[in-house]
Amino acid sequence: MKVDVVVIGAGQAGLSAGFHLARRGFVPVGTGTGEPTFAILDAGSGPGGAWRHRWESLRMSTVNGIFDLPDFPKPPIDPCEPSRDAVPRYFADFEAHSELPIRRPVTVTAVRRVDDDHDGDLRVETSAGTWTARAIINATGTFNNPVLPEYPGHDRFLGRQLHSRDYVDADAFTGQQVGVVGGGISALQQLAEISRVATVHWYTRREPVFLDGDFRPEVEGRETIAKVTADVVAGRPLSSVVSYTGLLWTPYAIDAAGRGALDRRPMFTALEPGGVREADGSFTALDTVLWATGYRADLKHLDPLGLRNELGGIAVDGTRVRDEPRVHLIGFGPSASTVGANRAGRGAAREVARRL
Ligand SMILES: Cc1cc2nc3c(=O)[nH]c(=O)nc-3n(C[C@H](O)[C@H](O)[C@H](O)COP(=O)(O)OP(=O)(O)OC[C@H]3O[C@@H](n4cnc5c(N)ncnc54)[C@H](O)[C@@H]3O)c2cc1C
Repeated sequence: MKVDVVVIGAGQAGLSAGFHLARRGFVPVGTGTGEPTFAILDAGSGPGGAWRHRWESLRMSTVNGIFDLPDFPKPPIDPCEPSRDAVPRYFADFEAHSELPIRRPVTVTAVRRVDDDHDGDLRVETSAGTWTARAIINATGTFNNPVLPEYPGHDRFLGRQLHSRDYVDADAFTGQQVGVVGGGISALQQLAEISRVATVHWYTRREPVFLDGDFRPEVEGRETIAKVTADVVAGRPLSSVVSYTGLLWTPYAIDAAGRGALDRRPMFTALEPGGVREADGSFTALDTVLWATGYRADLKHLDPLGLRNELGGIAVDGTRVRDEPRVHLIGFGPSASTVGANRAGRGAAREVARRL
């Protein structure tokens, strides 16, 4: 099928891009008479993007804050409601209201150049056929690309290992010895919960950095975005989110610290069948290792385009890939937040409309 623009992914970023393409006169593929066309392909089986997969105990009161989708304020939501229910419901209402041409479940498996040049079309191969597009706006998030570091002996450990993406709630850990690895917000939230019912050992590579005060969007927020933007403009690979933002003394963090649960240890050196070998050479018996080690941008399907440089990064100006102007990355780098995703969707739609 031929289309002018394919948006890949229908999370916050993809929905924003679709909304702004429609606002700029793009029409759903297969309709219209001469207007530029677009389609949104989403691998999910329903609305919500990564929010469909958040753990059950991540409530609306404990998320960092979810920015409204364009021109569609969130309705009042019970702060105790799990975000994985409330946000997908809100996204579903937005999709119905905006009548965006979303096709799901459709997974994009590869994007290739039709000819070996940088002017022609792109071929978008999917689980439901092949599309030919003049530009793509990639909004595939990070959920399907969890970071799982390999430590010596990782395959010899006889206990349970899981990534924080597979965490449901603390009940499964009751009475156990649990190693939580990672220094980000997910690690802290899940550690705080598990430490109520289990003995937790917290491992991070570096000493966690807690901010002294609040995270003020106009101060710390701007500084964070400036740092991440500098990295993507220079084409440097991105570091973990927490290395840019630091951690906040949220109520759950203060509570966990008060219970002595934030006694951080340096990273262990190896896993052994019954536990881990500590940095000082001693042994700690563990039943479970929870790898709360974050995510990276999920861009495997773009590999055939060879966008990465020798550093392993992708140089991006605004939302446009510097060496491949037909490709925009949104929800990526400085726009990997709900507010950033909204703005990047608008920016990418504007750029694509201008270029086409
Ligand atoms: C635990 C956790 C909590 C967070 N809390 C907050 C918060 O409170 N506030 C905030 O601003 N940010 C938060 N974030 C960051 C948050 O994920 C982003 O802000 C935002 O939700 C990401 O939106 P997105 O559209 O970029 O990606 P996603 O929501 O991940 O959407 C990507 C979509 O692309 C689809 N997709 C992926 N690969 C393909 C493919 N190959 N083909 C087709 N479709 C594909 C997926 O199915 C999905 O629907 C949090 C992140 C995590 C991990």
